[in-house]
Amino acid sequence: MTVTDLIASYDPALAPDPAAGAVSWRDLPAAQQPDWPDQAALAAVMADLGTYAPLVLPEESDRLRRRLAAVARGEAVLIQGGDCAEAFGGTSERQVRAKLTTLDQMATVLSAAAGLPALRIGRIAGQYSKPRSNPTEVVDGIELPVYRGDSVNGAAFDPVARTPDPERLRQAYHSSAVTLNLIRALTGGPESEDVYTSHEALILDYEAALTRRDSHTGRLYAGSGHLLWIGERTRQPGGAHLAFAAQVDNPVAVKLGPSATADEALALIDLLDPEREPGRLAFITRMGAGRIHEVLPELVAKVTASGAQVAWVCDPMHGNTFTSPSGHKTRRVADVAAEAEGFLDVHRELGTHAGGFHLEFTGEYVTECVGGTDEVTLQDLPDRYESTCDPRLNRGQALDLVFSLAEKYRS
Ligand code: PEP
Ligand code: MN
Repeated sequence: MTVTDLIASYDPALAPDPAAGAVSWRDLPAAQQPDWPDQAALAAVMADLGTYAPLVLPEESDRLRRRLAAVARGEAVLIQGGDCAEAFGGTSERQVRAKLTTLDQMATVLSAAAGLPALRIGRIAGQYSKPRSNPTEVVDGIELPVYRGDSVNGAAFDPVARTPDPERLRQAYHSSAVTLNLIRALTGGPESEDVYTSHEALILDYEAALTRRDSHTGRLYAGSGHLLWIGERTRQPGGAHLAFAAQVDNPVAVKLGPSATADEALALIDLLDPEREPGRLAFITRMGAGRIHEVLPELVAKVTASGAQVAWVCDPMHGNTFTSPSGHKTRRVADVAAEAEGFLDVHRELGTHAGGFHLEFTGEYVTECVGGTDEVTLQDLPDRYESTCDPRLNRGQALDLVFSLAEKYRS
């Protein structure tokens, strides 16, 4: 079998219909894809993944769509979050339990403050790949491929670790399955709330290999997680990521940074939510504390005027990153809170619904973001800086944030 045949064999569900002249995401430019050194090895792993059970089922994604529709209509609030990048070594019961407990505590506080039910979505059980600003990194004069997440290569600055290895995509599936098993076990009790899974749909080979056609409805669903989002770096119009997202029926989200225009947002709605169905599309805005009042109002006003009912979600993390004197990527809890509060202000002024928050946090005591009641200072950052990518709020900082938001809701 040739590599082309192998590739065709693992995503027949997504193959274009030549008669209809349909375009496949494979015919479009895909940003941020790893430079796999061995295409045949990639195709072999993908062919295997194509035979594996999906991690989540269409009816679960449909249920999430209905829950997200309530967020879009102003009848619920969303709390979505977890690691910037999950690690293959992070699937212990203790770690997963700590994340779920923190997510649940945040949801409980937010729900009480907003007077609405809270929808819980983890950035979990699949968040193994990262978009990066540069394809390579130079340390002490040595240039190596950049770390792109455990599903692609290893974080260690070493030529072997940094070489993309498609076997890691198989491991991403298994680590997702182990994590999901714990989530299902820990949240399966009679009174506990559902927790849905989400990750950035970045490595399209992986996403396509896990996409399945629902035999009852004939619709396509990504089987890698309940909700997938397209990141700020891969939302190019005419790009492969958006084309992929348009083909699947899961709820989808798109990140919007400060350069996003209202026309871009309207074009995203036409592509991803042509039927204007609340629950299909969420916009996750990440403007930065200094820009939110300037850029968010026009976006929300024009989208609302178009009649579309998207869920508006605030990611107050990614627009507020800076490098500390010690060289650590960090964020101030105060900036995160300021953007989150600005988001509530903007929606209050427009009379629209502040749907919820997308956060990077962990259930453990790490020292990656500065501030908080149990204050982490710039000097403390090296103590327990464990993230291989972006800095996460620790459990105390995550709770500080939602308590400050709860006050804002009441004001
Ligand atoms: C992320 O969510 O980790 C991320 C890279 O975000 P963005 O696409 O908004 O930059
Ligand atoms: Mn991140």
